[in-house]
Amino acid sequence: MAFEGLTARLQNVFGKLRGKGKVSEEDVNDAMREVRLALLEADVNFKVVKQFITKVKEKAVGKEVMDSFTPGMVIIDIVNKELTELMGGSQSKLAKANKPPTVIMMVGLQGAGKTTTSGKLAKLLQKQNAKPLLVAADIYRPAAIKQLQVLGEQINAPVFTLGDQTSPVEIAKQGLQHAKDNNHDYVIIDTAGRLHVDEELMAELHQIHSHVNPDEVLLVVDAMTGQDAVNVAEHFNTQLSLSGVVLTKLDGDTRGGAALSVKAVTGCPIKFITLGEKLDALEPFHPERMSSRILG
Ligand code: GDP
Repeated sequence: MAFEGLTARLQNVFGKLRGKGKVSEEDVNDAMREVRLALLEADVNFKVVKQFITKVKEKAVGKEVMDSFTPGMVIIDIVNKELTELMGGSQSKLAKANKPPTVIMMVGLQGAGKTTTSGKLAKLLQKQNAKPLLVAADIYRPAAIKQLQVLGEQINAPVFTLGDQTSPVEIAKQGLQHAKDNNHDYVIIDTAGRLHVDEELMAELHQIHSHVNPDEVLLVVDAMTGQDAVNVAEHFNTQLSLSGVVLTKLDGDTRGGAALSVKAVTGCPIKFITLGEKLDALEPFHPERMSSRILG
């Protein structure tokens, strides 16, 4: 499970701080040396770690320790707030179009979890009494269309497809029209991925983007790939202007660094995380909850 290592290390650091008089520079330096190592070990981006440590130090040194608190508690509180801030501060909600349908474009590399996340998101929206339409615009990966259809059947959500011989742009356009004609309030477009970011993929995504004018462009990235996930996010964001990131596979053996770096590096908030293969394993991302989880 993500963050176990980080949590254990941070607990160890803060455990040592308990029971001293006031927050001294020495306390903070000692703690931050360990926090820095813990974050780097968790695969958090180097620059992000550096900025984070500087901020915490600035806020912690000389801070008054009120009765019944310890310097350790004061530092933990500051670390908690700064971790939350690092991940975006507060929950970043899904955009909603003034006039339905809200168009959500799902993008990402192959294998990141784009298709399954599309299904999961549709299920989450259904729970909020919405009527999503899934659009199968990944015509390249064998079985991607079938996979989306199977997911759609499982949650009883319609899937719009024109097979794999029509262009993805045309599929997206007609899918959107179909949603309008059938009173769907959300359209989730599952676009194609590639093994690597390439120009052809970006050109196709641009084309779809300009035809459907999405309210959300959600990049799906695999948390298990660590810093690579952050690099992919940075790359997509410069090309396509993302509105949010979905971080998948946080149930796996990841060190969690991507969750801590994505927002700081790309400026793009994590909107959802996924924690398993089941269709209800998608959660809105809450920075403050994640921070508490990391600190144990
Ligand atoms: P796509 O190529 O981006 O559309 O990727 P898929 O949606 O087909 O997902 C690739 C694989 O990752 C599938 O086997 C999914 O079941 C798996 N997967 C997706 N999300 C998660 C997750 O949160 N946790 C785990 N353990 N597996 C996931």
